[in-house]
Amino acid sequence: MKKILVTGALGQIGSELVVKLREIYGVNQVIGTDIREADGIIAEGPFEVVDVTDASQLYQVANKYDVDTIMHLAALLSAKAEENPKLAWHINMGGLVNALEIARELNLQFFTPSSIGAFGPSTPKDHTPQDTLQRPTTMYGVNKVSGELLSDYYYHRFGVDTRGVRYPGLISHVTLPGGGTTDYAVEIYYEAIKKKAYTSCIASGTYMDMMYMPDALNAIIQLMEADPNRLKHRNAFNISAISAAPEDFAKAIQKHIPEFKLDFQVDPFKQKIADSWPNSIDSSAAAEEWDFKATYDIDKMTAEMLEKVSHKFV
Ligand code: NAD
Repeated sequence: MKKILVTGALGQIGSELVVKLREIYGVNQVIGTDIREADGIIAEGPFEVVDVTDASQLYQVANKYDVDTIMHLAALLSAKAEENPKLAWHINMGGLVNALEIARELNLQFFTPSSIGAFGPSTPKDHTPQDTLQRPTTMYGVNKVSGELLSDYYYHRFGVDTRGVRYPGLISHVTLPGGGTTDYAVEIYYEAIKKKAYTSCIASGTYMDMMYMPDALNAIIQLMEADPNRLKHRNAFNISAISAAPEDFAKAIQKHIPEFKLDFQVDPFKQKIADSWPNSIDSSAAAEEWDFKATYDIDKMTAEMLEKVSHKFV
């Protein structure tokens, strides 16, 4: 039976991943950790406060619970990283190398997500291939490319079973996103319910890849359980479900709330990041090597998001 340590367990992904892993593998098999104290459902199972930049703290918790897998999610996201690049390097690279070292020392299976932020302005924008030019212009992107390479290195050099995906912008209704460039795609649903209107900080016509959280969680579980003999790539599999611009979300929302209005007040800071990312990435390597398949398109996701978010305001 797997025993999994999750870092950054209180974030947008971790708060849902821990619940899902506990359903599959058992409550006591999944140890949540974060730099903050847990409350709510995450606190109902094993949880420890761990700062990932403190290698000995992370090691002690991994050792104490005798885990066989580490899912490393703790990070500073794209917009926040651009506000504080030095802190981003410290957390994103310092935390990652600590987690990889522990995976090496304790012989753990390892997962960490990269991002569409690992691409840059010179990357082909449409059907972005799995293996292509990666010269990102943001600190977050620099961290993510370095993380992909470092994870590959630990596999080739030390035989650590490292695996990872390049996530697109993730959309969910449980925990609000933590300061990324695609956060608007979550906020738009909350504002649709509250005000029937939304002012987008990302310009019309700006296409980015997106995915609904249930597909994102299934991808982790499927990749971690995939037959290693089928994996030609290891880390940073392109995965996407939806390529959309703000007006596509508006059209999908208007099918349920016809009076919904979208206008724009572009944030040049976030727009610059968005413009450096692809319009749509090619997920065929993930499909070939571990059968990745997204199940939510924008309409199916929108129906569920509006229903779930509306329950929060009754
Ligand atoms: P988030 O910002 O919602 O959560 C990150 C968590 O890490 C927070 O709970 C925070 O308290 C914790 N944390 C921060 N510094 C820490 C430290 N020093 N020690 C321990 N914990 C610390 O992020 P998320 O959206 O859940 O993202 C998780 C991972 O997925 C990150 O690597 C991120 O780059 C990647 N990713 C996310 C998205 C997305 O749309 N959410 C897209 C692509 C990639």
